[in-house]
Amino acid sequence: MTDSVRVRFAPSPTGALHVGGARTAIYNWAFARRTGGIFILRIDDTDPRRSTAENTAQIIRSLRWLGLDWDEGPEVGGPFGPYFQTQRTENYRAALETMKANGSAYPCFCSTEELQARRSLASDKRRARGYDRSCRRLDPAVAAERIAAGEPHVWRLAVPEQQGDIVVQDAVRGETLFPTSAMDDYILVRADGTPTYNFATVVDDADMRITHVIRGDDHLSNTPRQILVYQALGRPVPVFAHLPMIWGPDGRKLSKRHGATSVEAFQEEGYLPEALLNYLALLGWSLDGETTLMTPEVLKSHFSLERISKSPAVFDHQKLEWMNGAYIRNLGAAELAARLMPFLERASLARPRDFEERPDWFISLAALVAERIKRLSEVIPWVRFLFTAEIDIDPQAAESVLGQSGTRATLEHAHEALESLDEWTPEAIETTLRRLPETLNVKPKMVFQTVRVAVAGSTVSLPLFESLALLDKQVALGRLKSALRFAAAG
Ligand code: GLU
Repeated sequence: MTDSVRVRFAPSPTGALHVGGARTAIYNWAFARRTGGIFILRIDDTDPRRSTAENTAQIIRSLRWLGLDWDEGPEVGGPFGPYFQTQRTENYRAALETMKANGSAYPCFCSTEELQARRSLASDKRRARGYDRSCRRLDPAVAAERIAAGEPHVWRLAVPEQQGDIVVQDAVRGETLFPTSAMDDYILVRADGTPTYNFATVVDDADMRITHVIRGDDHLSNTPRQILVYQALGRPVPVFAHLPMIWGPDGRKLSKRHGATSVEAFQEEGYLPEALLNYLALLGWSLDGETTLMTPEVLKSHFSLERISKSPAVFDHQKLEWMNGAYIRNLGAAELAARLMPFLERASLARPRDFEERPDWFISLAALVAERIKRLSEVIPWVRFLFTAEIDIDPQAAESVLGQSGTRATLEHAHEALESLDEWTPEAIETTLRRLPETLNVKPKMVFQTVRVAVAGSTVSLPLFESLALLDKQVALGRLKSALRFAAAG
């Protein structure tokens, strides 16, 4: 089928994958999946100073973490490879030959210094911003001699002079006109033989039979330049869809100053990949204007270019956090436990094999925290007291709760009652502790707060009976004893 959709995500590996790039990847992927097309990952590593293998690896990790898969590209191969621009030199050379032969590319010998000098002398500064096309007028035979003599040169696009406007038909923004009279004979191939972005991208997109170019609208102004290369190569121009910018809440381009922006940072902060995917999918696209939670399956079966918004999207950390909390609550305790493990490991509270040794314990813990955290990393302060031998009692809680009169009797009675338990379950612990207020003639709240501060070290903690049951019985009893040091006499 010649008209089946082929789309690509083409990151430059000059840094980590950021949410803007991730959103572009998600839209391309979802569009390919919806239409039964092909999603390609291509690494635009033409900037040798800033492109690194580590960045490429990180981008791939982040894409995989988000749950994206590609049909062609690094790690999976494909019929249109290689999928790294640095390995496609032959394609750029062949394309340049085509353009040389039909006169749409010409060599330029002007040095940077010459160009600068000519610009500062020019009377019409606006026109002088671009290249003055002096080498375009060179006799081809003379130009060939200079090349043969080894003179340094770049290759420039000969912008057609009579073409009028270039019309960019954009699936998101509609029609935009760019007059060719304002266009520069820009460089296609540098003096060192490397292709520029606008040239390499078109050659690759054409050679890879890309049908739709879906990318950030910072590339809109490049599009007319790229269309001229398609035309010069006699290749079909793809459909373009330029995505609106992502802003911070202050209406400025999203950047570090607004908090985390790389996918990896969100991962480390404890966001779930499915929540981030969902959130980014809705940052500039909507299913029906209402639905906020949707599975990747829904996205893959409903994504359309028509519903991409024209206006900038505002990145709202709070909304993402809310969404993440909803996903955490829906995971189920067993799955949540598994997702929490890396965070417990990083905080040195658990080792991977702990989960295998007592999965039920970790699942019970996950059930207790599910309603209390919006990010996985928030689990640590809630559960630390369950992992450490010793706890630090919050001084304020020690004073305001343990320092009250009657505490000593409460701690001693609780110790005695719990010690006699044969079964260390939340139910048995609850039945026992609920009897104490009457025995001691104090308010239930006083008993529970005292025990809570003694075992968890704080007045705010996970549900009391369940957390006691998660603690080793002797550890729990030991904490009740050791809290006596704060207790008022009598
Ligand atoms: N490598 C380019 C970028 O990361 C790709 C732009 C495009 O999609 O054409 O901005």
